[in-house]
Amino acid sequence: MMINCLRIKQHRLMLLAVLVLSICVGVGGFKQKQIQALDAPDKSTSQTQKIASTAWQYGSFPVENFQSYTSPFGYRLSPIDGKKQFHNGLDMAAPLGSYVRSWWTGKVVEVSDNTPCGTAVIVESGSWRHAYCHLDGHVEVAAKGRYMIDRSGGIQIWQGQEVPVGMRIGRVGMTGRTTGPHLHWTLKFNGSYVDPALVLKEMFKQQAMLKPDPLG
Ligand SMILES: [Zn+2]
Repeated sequence: MMINCLRIKQHRLMLLAVLVLSICVGVGGFKQKQIQALDAPDKSTSQTQKIASTAWQYGSFPVENFQSYTSPFGYRLSPIDGKKQFHNGLDMAAPLGSYVRSWWTGKVVEVSDNTPCGTAVIVESGSWRHAYCHLDGHVEVAAKGRYMIDRSGGIQIWQGQEVPVGMRIGRVGMTGRTTGPHLHWTLKFNGSYVDPALVLKEMFKQQAMLKPDPLG
């Protein structure tokens, strides 16, 4: 009886160990997949092809309460002075105070304020950089470093901190050069600007494919 009981216990422990191990391997594999997805190192294909062949399904839409895309990436006439200029990001209108979320897991490489981009947070994920402009709040400096603080939104983001995908990293504000509340979102791959709409389209397509078939 005693021996049987011990055997069962040992068996259970083994099962538990296997379970823990498989969870660890699973999580590790997932992380690696994300990094591979982001690096997209094949330079022989065009940017559009490269984006289409990358796994974007793990990305987060960068703003809550989204209303509309108010200005696309590319050349346009400036809404402020009417001159032709290059718009390096995508404008996404949302009510003042709407939370902004990190599009991807990464590290905050810069927080800044008092520039045309207003109060901003820049996150680096592999070869990609994603920047969020016109946020509410401002930058403060402490002995530990620089941080962006938006007290009424309950947001404090340190330069150098890691942020998981989907984390709230700010709120839509009116700081910098802006005519209305929106998120100006830019994406850079290896230092060159990429149209964020291309990535979002691909992200939506891949996320839709992941959803279970409602009729099946
Ligand atoms: Zn903009």
